[in-house]
Amino acid sequence: MAQLSLTASPRPPYGFRILVEKGALPFWEGKGDIDFLCGACRATLAEKNPKEYPFHEILFRCPQCGSYNCVSE
Ligand SMILES: [Zn+2]
Repeated sequence: MAQLSLTASPRPPYGFRILVEKGALPFWEGKGDIDFLCGACRATLAEKNPKEYPFHEILFRCPQCGSYNCVSE
């Protein structure tokens, strides 16, 4: 199995976000206590997110209504 070591940085470049749009809802279930809801249709996008990690770089595309959602800073 070939391995490629990617260049890692604490944050993506300015204006760049990770897009999460595939799979069934919720996209994931963490170990925290904050659920992320779609701002348009209120679908639960990700459950039990820890408040220690702000998720600011992540853009969620709601599979239910198609809108883009992010955690505002
Ligand atoms: Zn939605």
